[in-house]
Amino acid sequence: MAGTAVPGRLAWQLASVAAKRQETPRVISLRLESDAWAGHLPGQHVDVRLTAEDGYQAQRSYSISSAPEPGVLELTVEDIPDGEVSPYLTEVLQPADRLELRGPIGGYFTWTAADGGPLLLVAGGSGVAPLMSMLRERAAAGSDVPTTLLYSSRSWDEIIYREELERLAADPTLRIVHTLTRSHPADWAGYTRRIDAAMLAEVAGALLPGSLAYVCGPTRLVEQVATDLVTRGYPPAAIKTERFGPTGG
Ligand SMILES: Cc1cc2nc3c(=O)[nH]c(=O)nc-3n(C[C@H](O)[C@H](O)[C@H](O)COP(=O)(O)OP(=O)(O)OC[C@H]3O[C@@H](n4cnc5c(N)ncnc54)[C@H](O)[C@@H]3O)c2cc1C
Repeated sequence: MAGTAVPGRLAWQLASVAAKRQETPRVISLRLESDAWAGHLPGQHVDVRLTAEDGYQAQRSYSISSAPEPGVLELTVEDIPDGEVSPYLTEVLQPADRLELRGPIGGYFTWTAADGGPLLLVAGGSGVAPLMSMLRERAAAGSDVPTTLLYSSRSWDEIIYREELERLAADPTLRIVHTLTRSHPADWAGYTRRIDAAMLAEVAGALLPGSLAYVCGPTRLVEQVATDLVTRGYPPAAIKTERFGPTGG
């Protein structure tokens, strides 16, 4: 009925920037507040729409990195040089500014404690964002599902959520393994190469019944890891993937 429509979850809504946090030199997190936000499932994303003064609009998808919470969501955005949208979000947008978004979107790349595991999470760069929502939800729910996060970053300083991940890893049922692909501290004893089949074999261990894998990051990483997991015996239906973009890593 005209004039009485209740905004659906995919209607555009205005959210205000409650806080902005520098995660790494190239990555920020935005805490957004919107009364219309009903919460989400870990792994889902939103569409963000920017409108220029001349009416030109640009729209991109961003995963929700926070645990589900009505009225509040966090996005974690990497500054892509020469990008149309991400430099605005990382450099220009400030607390108290407002942003148009719609969502939550996506019903496939989601995990809640009820889905169980064992859980293998594999991330490249900002691809850790939706997996962080899952880890935050897992902690909030008190889940002890055996979980491994294998996380590829360019360097120690580019590990997003590094300190929070260290705190979460105090949980003996959560294992976090980093690989640093471009540079690493002199005393670094961990992996220093891109994720490959041998690394997955070492980190993922034996395939147990109920195993679920979530892979998110640059397209090439996601496709390589998904292929390697199938080779390791993961049923394709147990591997969920989200591709963020063409390059990076
Ligand atoms: C479902 C989904 C969820 C996503 N979640 C996140 C998220 O949580 N955080 C986040 O930072 N990004 C996320 N992305 C990527 C995001 O939507 C944009 O593609 C990214 O921010 C670049 O947009 P841009 O307008 O700045 O660059 P564009 O103007 O679109 O592109 C500029 C240049 O950068 C290249 N490029 C585009 N995307 C990437 C990329 N991801 N990595 C490297 N190079 C790229 C393009 O090929 C082009 O050459 C997600 C994408 C999808 C599909």
